[in-house]
Amino acid sequence: MNSYLDKVLKATEENNVHEPEFLQAVKEVLTTVEPVVNSHNEEYKNIALLERMVEPERIISFRVPWVNDNGQVIVNRGYRVQFSSLIGPYKGGLRFHPSVNQSIMKFLAFEQIFKNALTGLPIGGAKGGSDFDPKGKSDNEIMKFCQSFMTELYRHIGQDVDVPAGDIGVGSREIGYLFGQYKRICNAYEGGVLTGKDVYYGGSLARKEATGYGLLFFTREMLAAHGQNLQGKIVTISGSGNVAIYACEKATVMGAKVVAMSDSNGCIYDENGIDLDLVKQIKEVQRGRLKEYLQKHPNAKYLENTNEDSPVWTIKTDIALPCATQNELTLNSAKKLVENGVLAIAEGANMPCTQEATDYLLKKGVLIGPAKAANAGGVATSAIEMSQNSMRFYYTFEEVESKLEQIMINIFKSCSSAADKYGCSGNYVAGANIAAFQKLAKSMRAQGIV
Ligand code: NDP
Repeated sequence: MNSYLDKVLKATEENNVHEPEFLQAVKEVLTTVEPVVNSHNEEYKNIALLERMVEPERIISFRVPWVNDNGQVIVNRGYRVQFSSLIGPYKGGLRFHPSVNQSIMKFLAFEQIFKNALTGLPIGGAKGGSDFDPKGKSDNEIMKFCQSFMTELYRHIGQDVDVPAGDIGVGSREIGYLFGQYKRICNAYEGGVLTGKDVYYGGSLARKEATGYGLLFFTREMLAAHGQNLQGKIVTISGSGNVAIYACEKATVMGAKVVAMSDSNGCIYDENGIDLDLVKQIKEVQRGRLKEYLQKHPNAKYLENTNEDSPVWTIKTDIALPCATQNELTLNSAKKLVENGVLAIAEGANMPCTQEATDYLLKKGVLIGPAKAANAGGVATSAIEMSQNSMRFYYTFEEVESKLEQIMINIFKSCSSAADKYGCSGNYVAGANIAAFQKLAKSMRAQGIV
């Protein structure tokens, strides 16, 4: 390996020993951009370009105290990692999940920088959240938590500074409570300070659908480049949240048959095709468990999680769409998918494949739509929401969707041509990293040592 790259990787490992997810994300990017680094070695070394790229501009961590419905005081930890403002205001979602820690926040923020660069829109990279667990909480508890979280976060964000959005555990309900508190504290209607708002007070039509729909636009382009299409294909999806639901919707519209979805307890397999209206009712309205699907469809199967290898990947499929969480698709699962003849995997979740799984799938010739590229439709539409807020104007659903589609087509082209140019045609994991890295490296050189 290039000695400069190797030195930066080793130093990053030493400086972040307890942050495995962050190191995994950095390692994937740095190893794939080696050909670009080789051709600019001295120049990058002289300005410590890689060292600055892997060090967040700022990490904010704070206490979030709140009172539950029983009158008990609970203390959670909040984070905002403002990783890079190179090409625009910090931008990235908020995750509320008990697994949240600094490593997960940093990996997500790091990935976000590259993803946002690929969209072609002026947005930097950030991520935030809390180890708060929304499961089983009342509406009142969710509101109180969101208000306390924003009471600290507000001083670090702004529509030209840092613009959070949703992620796992943060949907339009949470964004509404966060926005209300921000507005109350700041005494200003800054519509563009948060995205993922409901459409009746400043949100964008098609934002809710954007990540899942964008994933399918990307998948369509990737398949077409290899003489394939979605018509009649069997699709399995992990997760049953925002990304998974709208990926399922678009895959079905494009002529595929989705036969499985999951949540953190297990997966449902319905060989007749998933009843998405029912999944929406269970997940979006009742906030229930996917197992309840069987009450209406007793002939469907439910496979409970027993270990880290999710049963959803044991089901025979042409296209797998991991849309739940990081490292959910292990080497064992990858082997099972290949054994069952999988053609393509497109990542709706961030870093859902372990590094070993990615390496194996690429070696076996499976097409991979990497998260940075394939799920960038969500943040791209958030940027479209920001521009509508600035213009005090709404686009129609069709206008937003057609912009999203064009952005996803352009992202695929960037990944594909970068891969071709650097001798790894068809490897879109490398292509996405290289295309984004080149843009960021150029911006870093232009802006001096900051
Ligand atoms: P949601 O909270 O709406 O849904 C998350 C889904 O994943 C749920 O079905 C949840 O199951 C499942 N899940 C969460 N954690 C685990 C786990 N540890 N093991 C198994 N299943 C799990 O989140 P989103 O759909 O918004 O996000 C899903 C993924 O997509 C995340 O990786 C996120 O970073 C990424 N993403 C999201 C974007 C967006 O616009 N929302 C944009 C780009 C990427 P359960 O209900 O049981 O918790």
